[in-house]
Amino acid sequence: MTDDRITAALTEAIATACRVMAAGGLVEHVLGHISARAGDHHLLVRCRGPREAGLSRTRPEDIKLVPIQGPAGDLDGWTPPNELPIHTGVLRRRPEVTAVAHAHPPAVVTHSLLDEPLLPVYGAYDIPGARMAAGGIPVWSRSALVTTDELAGAMAEAMGDRPVVVLRGHGVVSAAGGDDPVAAVRTAVLQAFALDTLARVTLAVRQAGGTPRAIGDDDLAGLPDLGGGFNVETMWRHLLTRLPAAD
Ligand SMILES: [Zn+2]
Repeated sequence: MTDDRITAALTEAIATACRVMAAGGLVEHVLGHISARAGDHHLLVRCRGPREAGLSRTRPEDIKLVPIQGPAGDLDGWTPPNELPIHTGVLRRRPEVTAVAHAHPPAVVTHSLLDEPLLPVYGAYDIPGARMAAGGIPVWSRSALVTTDELAGAMAEAMGDRPVVVLRGHGVVSAAGGDDPVAAVRTAVLQAFALDTLARVTLAVRQAGGTPRAIGDDDLAGLPDLGGGFNVETMWRHLLTRLPAAD
């Protein structure tokens, strides 16, 4: 494919992924954004347009090309998200990362306020989430709006090389890599879904009067990696069926 066709496909993928995040309850109203690396010096990112109507109404024209370093420049009436440094900060610091998703899932935010780690409380119920939790889900203790590279750097440091980081009292940042940027966008969103599921189940255990505990090492070790074909492609097709019809 030509560079233009790759950019068009990635733009469409980011716009669809924004609508998937909204339809899945990972964002409330207009907040949240997704980006993908586009060449060595730029990223495609969901911006806010003159007719902004929320993430559930994201269109391809809301996705703009901006530099990883320096000011975004004239975007023809659109403005980059205030938290653009979340995306540029992670992409600059982690060369293996291709896509970044930022969302404010209410259950993740609520759980973060308990100041307890998210544990692999289940196994086969949601294998990607269990494996992610087993590897550790870091928390950045700040609840600030991430508008500077300094804040983004501290956040990225808390994230380390993990796929997700919980921003206490704020939301989640999810990052994915690989050669296929469209697959990376979907993977980043699916990781945020897995985190949301884990937070919702953990909160339900607490609300029922129980104590969330990690499942045993034997059960964790026995969970297979089902691979991207099932975890990403099949799950993505399912999530697309839950999108409301375009207006
Ligand atoms: Zn935010």
